[in-house]
Amino acid sequence: MTDGLLGPAQIRDLAARLGVRPSKSLGQNFLHDANTIRRIVRTAELAADDVAIEIGPGLGSLTLGLLTACRAVVAIEVDPVLAGALTGTVRDRVPAVADRLTVLNADALTLGALPDPQPTALVANLPYNVAVPVLLHLLAALPTVRHGLVMLQAEVADRLTAGPGSKVYGVPSVKLAWYAAARRAGAVPRTVFWPAPNVDSGLVAFHRRDPPSGADRVATFAVVDAAFAQRRKTLRAALAGWAGSPAAAERVLRAAGVDPGARGEGLDVAAFARVAAARTQQPAG
Ligand code: SAM
Repeated sequence: MTDGLLGPAQIRDLAARLGVRPSKSLGQNFLHDANTIRRIVRTAELAADDVAIEIGPGLGSLTLGLLTACRAVVAIEVDPVLAGALTGTVRDRVPAVADRLTVLNADALTLGALPDPQPTALVANLPYNVAVPVLLHLLAALPTVRHGLVMLQAEVADRLTAGPGSKVYGVPSVKLAWYAAARRAGAVPRTVFWPAPNVDSGLVAFHRRDPPSGADRVATFAVVDAAFAQRRKTLRAALAGWAGSPAAAERVLRAAGVDPGARGEGLDVAAFARVAAARTQQPAG
């Protein structure tokens, strides 16, 4: 392979050399299909001056593709063996761009400030069991990230990109919408991974946008969590605990221009922000 990407034989070789036995709890399913890598990199629409942050580089499948498509790559890997081997893999396979890579052995869920250059794009095959919290944490913690493409479980990709009124619209959909406009950007079959997971995957592309004005994120997310904790109830009932009583919830909802008989699944992120803002203007009780 002239572009240095890893196929099935190279992935198994590398894993054997490092003594890696894929860990289920860390969501270690490695991409071993160069065409899928090329498709992900192409769909990520990286500009030559983008700095990509990759979560969970694993054996380096996607990292190798990203390095030739942008200015720099910051790779965050929680597994110390994989983190320690990545620079060597990159030097072996794409030596001309190896100095574009920075590897940090860290947990993406608690990632704080990063060394320069600051990332502008998130591109990752996310570990499935923590994909949503990782995505939301990074959007909050890394305001320089303007766009991205992530791969996750197909069902989770559907949930993240659902709009109000959809059956799968819920907390992840509203919270992602706070930060970004997101869309499904393709399907990925389980066969392109080693080991093959028992679910198919999906791609989600996003572009950051300004959050709704008038309320802060913490206050808005508290309303979202309360509304969907009891998603079949009307907002008047679901938000009673949050507001203090059903009557207080009704007052806040009316002040926000939201029907107290509606359900959370009917509200977009701007409406949730209005409800949060209206609460601060109401007497408690
Ligand atoms: N990017 C590689 C690929 O496509 O072949 C590997 C993707 S694999 C689905 C997920 C990777 O995320 C694994 O390498 C795993 O060790 C790593 N990982 C799991 N939890 C993590 C966390 N909290 N922070 C950073 N990396 C994590």
